[in-house]
Amino acid sequence: MLKYNLSYWERETFFKDFDVAIIGSGIVGLTAALHLKRLQPRLNVVVLERGALPAGASTRNAGFACYGSMTELLDDMTRMSEDDVFAVVEKRWRGLQRLRQLVGDEPMDFEQNGGFEVFTEEEEEVFEECRDRMAHFNRIVGAITGHPQPYVVADERLADFGFRGAAHLILNQPEGQVHTGKMMARLLQLAAEAGVRIFNGIHIEQIEDSAEGVELQTAAGWTLRVPRVLVAVNGFARQLMPGIEVTPARNQVLITQPIPGLKVRGCFHYDRGYYYFRDVDGRILLGGGRHLDNSTETTSEFGPNELIRSALVQLLKTIICPGQPIEVDAWWTGILGLGPVKKPVVEQYSKNVVVAVRLSGMGVAIGTLVGEEGAERLLA
Ligand SMILES: Cc1cc2nc3c(=O)[nH]c(=O)nc-3n(C[C@H](O)[C@H](O)[C@H](O)COP(=O)(O)OP(=O)(O)OC[C@H]3O[C@@H](n4cnc5c(N)ncnc54)[C@H](O)[C@@H]3O)c2cc1C
Repeated sequence: MLKYNLSYWERETFFKDFDVAIIGSGIVGLTAALHLKRLQPRLNVVVLERGALPAGASTRNAGFACYGSMTELLDDMTRMSEDDVFAVVEKRWRGLQRLRQLVGDEPMDFEQNGGFEVFTEEEEEVFEECRDRMAHFNRIVGAITGHPQPYVVADERLADFGFRGAAHLILNQPEGQVHTGKMMARLLQLAAEAGVRIFNGIHIEQIEDSAEGVELQTAAGWTLRVPRVLVAVNGFARQLMPGIEVTPARNQVLITQPIPGLKVRGCFHYDRGYYYFRDVDGRILLGGGRHLDNSTETTSEFGPNELIRSALVQLLKTIICPGQPIEVDAWWTGILGLGPVKKPVVEQYSKNVVVAVRLSGMGVAIGTLVGEEGAERLLA
């Protein structure tokens, strides 16, 4: 890391008179910045980001505009009350509508092709449980989404997709998908247009809150003092705030080369949600498999995991696109922020510092609301 002090010119021209600094330019940081400018247009807001681009989850996710497949929600109900689980569904649904309003459907290629859950032949029991509870789920989730019947059994669609070894499909009709890159590009553009200053390549190593304001220590060696700070670093929160209950979790993702005549359309959860895949630009994006090597993947470091990568390739070639010549175009990883329950942490960390983290793998859906809540807390 380059070490240097700010020159007088740099300090006086670029880093002066900020009212609020936001650390992290993911969905949460950017939507918080936009909300602050909407609430108080004269506020001088700066976003400090360590990466050349946002470097966490927001530019590296799968772009599912989803609020919960049935097995995901049933699994959540083993750790949370049913009311709490549906409260999260409601927040995810509301967050998606807010995101669509803010970014617009067209700029982020929003499509509502539905979210499918694929059940294998070995999962008959869990499929039957979903079928038994479907009317109950539809009553509650129908009231949230305004859709008369969100969840339906869609076994007749199996032939359309050509999966091998799949026995059943449940379609969650109102779910959608976005182009993650375009969504983030638009948020960055909106923030710049609103007058938010965004600096990349600034890694904050330490935060010190005192009567004189908050001192931010950069990895380059110089410091910046601001009256108030919002920390929006999700899976990296413990590096700045060791006491906070956020566990980083790495996810491996691949994208194929374009597949001629690709039949897969929509977002899919496979094997109890351990794997997820979708179509994008005539290709398949596939990720997940963290359960195969959980301890290695509990990390905030980007990087490959060969065990998981070979399982993903195997899944792609044998189950999702059997018998087709498939080539992987690219691999990447992203870092989630998880906790004991699926609930973000939006709280006052110290007198002048608010934290908005732990998006629990749902940030496309809830990120906008979490950012806006963080902004409002900062002004309270
Ligand atoms: C592979 C993958 C697939 C996913 N798929 C979906 C999906 O389909 N649907 C869905 O709803 N959610 C999905 N998610 C989750 C979603 O992407 C996240 O919940 C969301 O992006 C989190 O946004 P954020 O702004 O809180 O964090 P991030 O996007 O991680 O942003 C935090 C930012 O803080 C910066 N930062 C960290 N530390 C510092 C520091 N010390 N100084 C300066 N900057 C710092 C990072 O570089 C980063 O840019 C997925 C996540 C991953 C990884």
